[in-house]
Amino acid sequence: EKLSVRFESFANRVLEMNLLVRPDDYIGVKLAGEIAALYNYRVEDVAFNEEAVLNKKAGEDKSAYPVRNPIITIMGHVDHGKTSLLDYIRKEKVAAGEAGGITQHIGAYSVKVKDAMLTFLDTPGHAAFAAMRQRGANVTDIVVLVVAADDGVMPQTVESIRFIKNAEVPVIVAVNKIDKPAANPDKVKQGLTEHGLLPEEWGGETQYVNVSALTGQGIDDLLEAIQLQAEIMELRENPKGAAEGIVIESKIEVGRGPVTTILVQKGTLNKGDSIVVGETSGRARSLMDYTGKMLNSAGPSTPVQVLGLENVPTPGDILNVVKNEREAQKIVDNRIAERKALANTSVEAKKVSLEDFFA
Ligand code: GDP
Ligand code: MG
Repeated sequence: EKLSVRFESFANRVLEMNLLVRPDDYIGVKLAGEIAALYNYRVEDVAFNEEAVLNKKAGEDKSAYPVRNPIITIMGHVDHGKTSLLDYIRKEKVAAGEAGGITQHIGAYSVKVKDAMLTFLDTPGHAAFAAMRQRGANVTDIVVLVVAADDGVMPQTVESIRFIKNAEVPVIVAVNKIDKPAANPDKVKQGLTEHGLLPEEWGGETQYVNVSALTGQGIDDLLEAIQLQAEIMELRENPKGAAEGIVIESKIEVGRGPVTTILVQKGTLNKGDSIVVGETSGRARSLMDYTGKMLNSAGPSTPVQVLGLENVPTPGDILNVVKNEREAQKIVDNRIAERKALANTSVEAKKVSLEDFFA
């Protein structure tokens, strides 16, 4: 609602509150409330209650919810075999038993081990993780640290360990390239012990598995080690209610528009839902899993490729389901305005201004 007040008289009144405002200044909800009270109006916050939605219920008891798949990421120094390992598992372990046998590159896939499913995140490089870390988002439950047996601990190995310790996620070490004549797994163990990853067989708590992404040696052992770790963690989540998720990757595809891989973290995302993702919104027009199958819905720990967003979001952005597209647009406008106000950018760029409010 707009108040019919001349700007000069308004500016004078708020000046009495020790506020100096110019016509295009951005004001937050709280301040708007105080100002409106001067005129016997009450401000209603029609915007999205970000805090209520984004506040993760840290102490929530999840023991009654169904088990969800663990989310696994692979980290390690460049050329130590992260991509090869992911490719091997995808090719040898996913294709068998999946419809068509062709996996889609949606940045994630799931593998069946015994009665459990393991979901691997297959994000290119560390950019996505860096972005997620910056937002304090924890997407991963277990990290597989790949170290080449012929190369040992390298700078990005150490960087990965720092991430793992910060995030407080369990780690399993995959000592890769065990097929190479120069492979020296003990040297890897020694090197990592200096960084606090004492192997179980040396009296520590860290699991090491010798593997070869080339020959496939040890891969089954690695998958079993991951499955055991996941079992211990008893990961559970509520599949009911509006979905919440996180952007893994996003790109524009000709003819399809923005194509975004979302990892649903809680609740269920349904086809047709109105969604807000970071600073863009839309309708989840189509949902596709890593086998290329169209889905009507996706529950916790499910990675899905989503079509229907207006723009490309950033990895680490949060997805929320909202009432309708109008609401979604309002939230996006609000977020952009808040960000711009915070960044103190040019006055023209501000979407919500005092003039909108009081003209
Ligand atoms: P990334 O940078 O960590 O993703 O490493 P890549 O998966 O791209 O692997 C780097 C190089 O090491 C490639 O030439 C791979 O073929 C090779 N490589 C990866 N794993 C193995 C392995 O287990 N044995 C051998 N001999 N070579 C490997
Ligand atoms: Mg790679």
